[in-house]
Amino acid sequence: MRIGIGYDVHKFKEGRDLILGGVKIEYDKGLEGHSDADVLIHSIIDGILGALGKGDIGTLFPDTDIKYKDIDSKILLSEVCKLMKDSKFKIGNIDCTILAEKPKMREYIPKMEIIIAEILETFKENINIKATTTEKLGFIGREEGIAAQSAVFLDKE
Ligand SMILES: [Zn+2]
Repeated sequence: MRIGIGYDVHKFKEGRDLILGGVKIEYDKGLEGHSDADVLIHSIIDGILGALGKGDIGTLFPDTDIKYKDIDSKILLSEVCKLMKDSKFKIGNIDCTILAEKPKMREYIPKMEIIIAEILETFKENINIKATTTEKLGFIGREEGIAAQSAVFLDKE
């Protein structure tokens, strides 16, 4: 059994879609990033890589590589899933928290859980996503960006 944690932050940018957990969220701005800036999926990727002892997302998918420009982070997650399976591990469970002052996430979360479970070839019950504000404190409270953290537990296959 192995455990990993992931944490990621992206800042808001006008004129971009807001994509979280592979779901497009209705909002007036998105997140800035080399890829689609899906901060939740990035934190899950880092959690899985941490549990595997295989570094981090920036090492695996460098943002200097044009190949990853505006890439759908679901594709990156499926590549990490392959890596996990090659290492003979499977998802035990994943618990995530999205930290955002706005927008409200609740209605989107079940869909995020289904998408992530499907990509990682596990049951929806093994993926738990929560969202919280920071009570208007700090960069999240000032609505400058969104953060996500994930705890990942892997089981030997
Ligand atoms: Zn990121």
